[in-house]
Amino acid sequence: MKRLFLAVALAGLCFVNADAQKKVPETVNLMPSVNRRIEIILPQVNGLNVYKADLHTHSIYSDAELTPEQRVKEAWLDGLDVFAMTDHIEVRRHEPNMLKFLKGYNGGVAKKAENNYIHYKAGTEKGILADINLATKLTLKSAKSYGENILIIPGCEITRNPLTIGHYNALFTTDNNTIYDPDPMQALRNAKKQGALITHNHPGWRRKTCDMTEFEKQAYAEGLIDGVEIMNGASFYPTAMQRCVDKKLYMLGCTDIHGLTDSYRNSGVFRTMTFIFAKENTSKAIRKALEKGMTLAYCVGNIAGDAKLLQDFFKASVSCKLLYSSSKGKTTYALTNSTSIAYKIKFGKYNLEIPPFQTITLGVSKGKDGKEKDLAFYVTNMWEVGYKNPKIVYKAMAK
Ligand SMILES: [Zn+2]
Ligand SMILES: [Zn+2]
Repeated sequence: MKRLFLAVALAGLCFVNADAQKKVPETVNLMPSVNRRIEIILPQVNGLNVYKADLHTHSIYSDAELTPEQRVKEAWLDGLDVFAMTDHIEVRRHEPNMLKFLKGYNGGVAKKAENNYIHYKAGTEKGILADINLATKLTLKSAKSYGENILIIPGCEITRNPLTIGHYNALFTTDNNTIYDPDPMQALRNAKKQGALITHNHPGWRRKTCDMTEFEKQAYAEGLIDGVEIMNGASFYPTAMQRCVDKKLYMLGCTDIHGLTDSYRNSGVFRTMTFIFAKENTSKAIRKALEKGMTLAYCVGNIAGDAKLLQDFFKASVSCKLLYSSSKGKTTYALTNSTSIAYKIKFGKYNLEIPPFQTITLGVSKGKDGKEKDLAFYVTNMWEVGYKNPKIVYKAMAK
């Protein structure tokens, strides 16, 4: 009997083995052509939509690793609505290699790259020997594959000594080829002449402070600067925010991406971006919003910008409802976050989170006089001028 049992058991085992060679059930139908975009849900604020923008990126046509086509795809997958390809006009890192690759073609003329890296020194009388509009053209063409759901802002980066001059993005350009000038101030003027908005990029990069250099003071005084990149990559320049308020400049958060944006996903955050408050996702409306300073910068889960915009954005994201009020004790409120942003708050001595698409309850004790108190807390991942967290107050709702 035991033998029979063993034989049956072995037969069963063989059967299992044979079965194991079957294909695994296909729970996901693998199709390489299927793309998956992250949808970042943000609120409508005072009747305006909030668009997600990255207005500072690079491609292989300056010193980065991806083509403009790949950048557009990446931007779309990352959930963006607005995108700018802003290659350095003075840097073409890959050109020497490309010319080496082509050695022997064109009669063997192109042996050495000329004028491909004029980041620090001025170019020769020949100017820049490349079509600086190409990356923008390819970006615009690529966006068509996404039904033009992603708006492309033409642009480029004017790139000079970071310690004395700095870097500047020209946005809404019409011809990147006519911007370069050995004199950086003239390059800014050239961009301005074609109607560009100019962002002062990463104002504290490679410096100890964000204090303005002589060049910067002059550029701002001449009215050449329209906005400041207060967040770049994973860096935050809070001291530059006061300048934006004083001079009525827009504030941006941008990736300035050269490699892949997967590092953001791997860290569990969205890529650095700007939230733009606009009526519609058109070039005209986005430009108008920038000119009016209707932006907030987002970086590694933090949001920074104008104090009132932060208040409005938070209150449009998180609704507050009275749940229960006992005759003597506490009043309990429900805070519901209807967005993809995780809000961190300091409520009394407690550090709490209101996760995306979740509700938390908070209890407020009545005052000694028996009166209801307001619900108040600080949002610790939001930053207003002065490196301060906004204080959110919901007026007492219980009767
Ligand atoms: Zn730069
Ligand atoms: Zn850059």
